[in-house]
Formats: sequence, C-alpha cells, structure tokens
Amino acid sequence: MSKNIDWSTLGFGYVETDKRFVSEFKNGEWDEGKLTEDATITMSECACVLQYAQTVFEGLKAYRTEDGKVVCFRPDLNASRLADSAARLKMPVYPEDKFIDAVVETVKANLDWVPPYGSGATLYLRPYMYGKNAVIGVKPAEEYEFRVFCTPVGPYFKGGAKPITIRTTDFDRAAPHGTGHIKAGLNYAMSLYAIVDAHEKGFDENMYLDAATRTKVEETGGANFIFITKDGKLVTPKSDSILPSITRRSLMVVAEKYLGMEVEHREVYFDELKDFAECGLCGTAAVISPVGKIVDGDNVIEFPSGMEEMGPITKKLYDTLTGIQMGRIEAPEGWIKVISE
Ligand SMILES: *Cc1c(COP(=O)(O)O)cnc(C)c1O
Repeated sequence: MSKNIDWSTLGFGYVETDKRFVSEFKNGEWDEGKLTEDATITMSECACVLQYAQTVFEGLKAYRTEDGKVVCFRPDLNASRLADSAARLKMPVYPEDKFIDAVVETVKANLDWVPPYGSGATLYLRPYMYGKNAVIGVKPAEEYEFRVFCTPVGPYFKGGAKPITIRTTDFDRAAPHGTGHIKAGLNYAMSLYAIVDAHEKGFDENMYLDAATRTKVEETGGANFIFITKDGKLVTPKSDSILPSITRRSLMVVAEKYLGMEVEHREVYFDELKDFAECGLCGTAAVISPVGKIVDGDNVIEFPSGMEEMGPITKKLYDTLTGIQMGRIEAPEGWIKVISE
C-alpha cells in the first residue's frame, strides 16, 4: 500500500521514511550493515566530520515504471563515484557491490514510499559516509559510518520546466586543492555563500568558470552544462574540476545513440556561448533545467530558445532520458536495476 501522501504537492524536501541502512567501519573493516528505524545519529562533539568536514555523498532516485516495477538508474556509477570521492578524502572505500545491495535493501524496506507512476514524484536516495570518531589533530578518522536513507521528492517542475536565468560569479565553489570533482559536503559548504548571493540578486544559479583563467565554463553549484549548437550538436564542458554527472554522461549516450546527434565533450569557452541555440543544466534532481539567459556583468546572453519553454532539442533529450528511466523506452544494457517486479 502506498503511503497516504499528496504526491503532486510534494516538494524537494526531507520527509522521514521508515527504514535506513547503516554500516560501520571499525578496526580496519566494514561490518555487514543493517536496516534501522532510528533516523538520528549520536556522535562525539569532536567527530572528524564535524571538525574537518570529512564527508562525501551520492544522490540517485528510485522510480515506479509504467508496468509497475520499482527500478533505479545506473547505481553502479554512483557506487564508483562515491568510491572516488571517499578516496580523495582519505576515507575507506565502501565496496561497490555492497553499495548497490544497500540501495536495493533501503528501497525494498520503504516500498510504500515510492511514488506512483505518472505522479512526477520519485524516491530520492541519499547514500553517504563520514568520519565519526574524535579527531583533533588534522588527520583522517579511523572509524566511519556509511548510510543510505530515502525521501520522496515531488516533481521538480510543477507545470512544466520554465527556463531559468543564471549569472557568472567570481566566487570559487571548490575548496582549496582542487576538490571540485568529488561529491562532498565541503564543496557545497563553499557554494552556499554564492548561491544565497545569486538568489538575493535575482538569479537562479551561478555559472562557475575555471579558476585559473576565468575564460572556460565549468558547471553550476550542483549541475553540469549541456549546450546545443545551431546545427544540432550537443556540446558539454570537459574539465577535471567538475563533477562527472551521471545524467550528463547518460545524455551524451542518448544524444548519440538514440537521437543520432553529434556529441562534443571538450573545453567550452565563455565567449562561445553567444553562438549556441539552447542551454541546459543536468543532474539527477531535475534531469534537465533549461537555461534561457546568462548574465556576465553587462554582457547578457539570451538563447534563441527563449524564456518560455525548454528548447526543442533539449526537450527531446529530456523526454528520451526520462522515457528510459520510467520504462517507456528500451534502456541500454545495464542502465536499469530492477528492485521490485
Ligand atoms: C550531483 C552533482 C551533479 C549532477 O550529477 P548527477 O550524477 O547527474 O546527479 C553535478 N554537479 C555537482 C557539483 C554535483 O554535486
């Protein structure tokens, strides 16, 4: 039985669900892990995560498909990206096969929380790990916790995706020493000032440029860019300091294999943007948010697709990828993990 929730009015917020998965790392090894009803955590006031922000996370969704299955999308890529993030913060890697098992177990324990097909809502999963024991000298923790919780989230766009306006920023998002390519709390902490400042000034998001020359497009605080050229190619920035978005990597395959488009994954200069026909931000939460306008001081770039609706090629990409995720379009081998028939 589905929970008695008005799925259509649900936003993107935390709702406590029934069970979550917890595994502990002590004396050099991970335990078996278990499901628990306890949604709170007790730890030392001096825990490494609290003092030195030693924490990394992932985000993915479980969907109810047209034929009533519950599935998730490419969880193996979240598993390997969490492993990369953990290694960069000197945390023990959580085994990738056990990551997928933990995601499956968490969804199975909360099946009633998976929103119905067609509601636009989905079950968002948040796997994460953090250094838990007390550490006062600067060094990695010795004890860690890996957890997965889930929370139902509403349709990202109520009444259709309206293009947004973004601005360039001189703030640097990534913490020092080039940690921008990992999914870690510290990158988000470093982006909070810039996002609040952008909102106060009437922009929806920040466009980060490369820190060294400020001439190349990186990403926004939580999404990668895609651009469509006037002759229908997909162009997306390549950089070692942006997060390798699973949505973006999937859209590159969808563009090439499903829509027969040419795909260019390369450095993208800010000066080129005025020549593109469409622009979008991609990530798990919204799939693609269309961008209508980019403001760089006095220089305003308005894409021909306008501020009223998603550009036509962006829309095709969006419809094809969400069709694959919801089981309406056949997925490439290995993209869909069935959790419940
Ligand atoms: C999560 C995230 C994205 C989007 O990645 P997906 O795997 O597509 O959800 C992009 N940039 C940053 C900084 C992120 O944290």
